[in-house]
Amino acid sequence: MSDLVLFWHRNDLRILDSVGLAQACHSAARVIGVFCFDRSILSREDIAPARVVYMLGCLKALAEDYRQAGSQLLFVDGDPVDRIPQLAATLKAKAVYWHHDVEPYSQIRDEQVSTALKAHNIQVHTNWDRLLHDPTTIRTGNKQPYSVYSPFWRNWNSQPKPAPVEVKLPKSELTPAEIQALTQLPTIDLPTATELGFTWAAPLIFEPGTTAAAQQLVTFCHDSIYQYDEQRNYPAISGTSGMSAALKFGTIGIRTVWAATTAAVTAANSETALAGITTWQQELAWREFYQQALYHFPSLAQGPYRDHFKQFPWVNDKTQFKAWCEGKTGYPIVDAAMRQLNQTGWMHNRCRMIVASFLTKDLIINWQWGEKYFMQTLIDGDLAANNGGWQWSASSGMDPKPLRIFNPYTQAQKFDQDANYIRKWVPELKSVDTKMILSGDLLPLTRHQVGYPLPIVDHSIQQRLFKELYASVK
Ligand SMILES: Cc1cc2nc3c(=O)[nH]c(=O)nc-3n(C[C@H](O)[C@H](O)[C@H](O)COP(=O)(O)OP(=O)(O)OC[C@H]3O[C@@H](n4cnc5c(N)ncnc54)[C@H](O)[C@@H]3O)c2cc1C
Repeated sequence: MSDLVLFWHRNDLRILDSVGLAQACHSAARVIGVFCFDRSILSREDIAPARVVYMLGCLKALAEDYRQAGSQLLFVDGDPVDRIPQLAATLKAKAVYWHHDVEPYSQIRDEQVSTALKAHNIQVHTNWDRLLHDPTTIRTGNKQPYSVYSPFWRNWNSQPKPAPVEVKLPKSELTPAEIQALTQLPTIDLPTATELGFTWAAPLIFEPGTTAAAQQLVTFCHDSIYQYDEQRNYPAISGTSGMSAALKFGTIGIRTVWAATTAAVTAANSETALAGITTWQQELAWREFYQQALYHFPSLAQGPYRDHFKQFPWVNDKTQFKAWCEGKTGYPIVDAAMRQLNQTGWMHNRCRMIVASFLTKDLIINWQWGEKYFMQTLIDGDLAANNGGWQWSASSGMDPKPLRIFNPYTQAQKFDQDANYIRKWVPELKSVDTKMILSGDLLPLTRHQVGYPLPIVDHSIQQRLFKELYASVK
């Protein structure tokens, strides 16, 4: 029997605090990592160049971590249903390990890979790792999955949380015969973004890799977490963790993240500090809420959760959609946010809610257009969180409040009082009076003089129209 097993990395680009990798290391003398460049994912229309570059950075760091442990991370290119069993059979691996994924595509693919491996008499071991509580364990009193966040949070929060997992990767050198066998396979060197067909020239907003993710967590939990409750809604200040890309690609284990929050509780010295930690833990629970939702309701990925939204008569004006994408709607807070997204690949959560409300309730454009544009641009683009955020904003999702409509001016006045965020991303407005920027009382002449567009729609008219259309399908 072979002494070698493979660990197939996907959205878990780390060695530390990895449930499946720990199990793999207990089961065999040698553990080799593998990552497959899945062309059916990379050729989708909704892949963001910034996300690909970030992922490649994480893979480079992971390969180095394997090398330092005396093992290696292999890269293969193509359909994982062929490549993973091919690699495992070539190396005569006794088993392949991986972590579950909630996305519908991944579940079907994993089933096929599993069947192919078993046909080669290679064992398959799978674990939940991405979530503190796997989606099958948090249920309502009637044993149903949750579709409302608040009771989910209460149940989720009441459960004991798992501790970080220790992983001791064994020294795992390949034999000369195995190295020779590998030459028959399409294993590749780590490709560049250009080789994969993507271009992202700007510096990454977050440094990829496990060291950077760990440092970010330490920095956040040392300071900002205590003010999170008060500061998280202000896009001009850096009051949030910036950990979404690291959590998306799993460069940090969720158990490690949770342990850092409980350590912060011990160090907290005020009610405000404790409130900050709880609010941040609630965001981690939102992440898990949307993942369990997608797992139990895979049709969320295809369309609205609420049936009546399937008939919603969206206006879908392409010119207005283009103006929204480019940050040229004439609404300063919306434009600032869209330009932040286009230039950095990231957008503050408050602004994600503002621009999503604007697209769906002011422009009356199908939320799925916005969902796709976000996936095409976000460094942290994640099907479950993005779909959840868009359906929440469009009122087509699980949120029990159906008609939430954000007024972009009120939002700016509340959350960007000095217009610092707006001025940073919409430099045309740098010298314009703050009150004028925030109230929308920007005269057409001023707009013309500074080169800033007129509003493409009237918020109060559109708000009425949306309500009428909503009533017509309800
Ligand atoms: C329309 C819309 C689209 C979104 N698309 C995505 C997406 O593609 N990927 C993504 O990770 N988040 C998405 N979010 C959620 C949220 O905006 C980001 O997670 C957050 O802005 C990331 O910044 P941060 O890491 O500093 O967050 P923090 O405020 O520090 O929160 C900590 C972590 O909790 C999780 N989280 C926070 N808020 C949410 C939320 N509402 N839903 C799910 N998880 C959350 C994230 O993993 C985040 O890193 C979206 C929200 C909206 C309204």
